[in-house]
Amino acid sequence: MQLVMFDGTGPVRLGALFGEYAYDLTSAGAAMGVDSGSGPVPLSLRSIKLLLASGDKGLDDVHRAFEFAVDSGDETWRFPVAGVRLHAPITTPRKVLALAGNYAAHIREGGREAPEKERSAPQVFMKPPTTLIGPDEPIRLPGDLCAAVDYEGELAVVIGRRCFAVTPDEASHCIAGYVNFNDVSCRRLSIEVEREPNARTAFFDWLNGKWFDTFGPIGPALVTIDEVPNPQALQLQTRVNGEVRQHASTAEMIFGVDEIISWISRMMTLEPGDVIATGTPSGVGSSTGRFLQPGDVVEVEISGLGVLRNPVDGPTPERDT
Ligand code: MG
Repeated sequence: MQLVMFDGTGPVRLGALFGEYAYDLTSAGAAMGVDSGSGPVPLSLRSIKLLLASGDKGLDDVHRAFEFAVDSGDETWRFPVAGVRLHAPITTPRKVLALAGNYAAHIREGGREAPEKERSAPQVFMKPPTTLIGPDEPIRLPGDLCAAVDYEGELAVVIGRRCFAVTPDEASHCIAGYVNFNDVSCRRLSIEVEREPNARTAFFDWLNGKWFDTFGPIGPALVTIDEVPNPQALQLQTRVNGEVRQHASTAEMIFGVDEIISWISRMMTLEPGDVIATGTPSGVGSSTGRFLQPGDVVEVEISGLGVLRNPVDGPTPERDT
């Protein structure tokens, strides 16, 4: 299923995309009277995050609510996709993890040689959940602090089950599904202090450049794992103002989804709703010096997962305290 958070005529609710429509599973589920003991709307049908926390029962509720909505023919639960606003499928995961340097061609365009896989390990970093925004929400440029903001189209995994220390063979059991992600990155922090350049400073500048608000567009839908039989055979394309900048297959990843999950789970418990972005292919703006500008529109498209589209805005002038 293609699960979304959307608003049609009322509050944000859980939906499923099917054909040209978004089906309102929150309302259909309430009408269906799924008995969850948590009020008129089962907890599992209120949001994707709560659905994932509900485990297999949540997915059963979703399938039943979807069939109920479709079979009933009731148009109050059916909205043309073009007329609704899609929100980020997940807004407050406990963790947003991301891979650095997971495509050899991207490592090479950055001026380094890709190491032999047998002599390397996945390089994982975290982004704050405050980076996350949904489809059509603007990526906000930070202004003076960074004039070199870049896109990174990526396949992201969403965790569906708590797991720790799983093997690559067991990893798929942890996955709820997949979603498009843009690991927006500031390539050059402009700090008003004259600093001694060293490797540590460069590393933290790189890391901090991943952390700005709005630097994690995600969406449009969480596509459940049953619809993505092979996550290493997807075409990924990133466009800026319609021009193709990145085009690759996820087959080119150095460490595949199963290996990534296994590696991370050796260090930390992965929990339902956690997001893992799996790295970006070549074609980023820093390889040509073409960084994002106000007014640009960035699209990340992955086969079967839809298009994640975000405009780029200048900095917000007011502070939110
Ligand atoms: Mg990245």
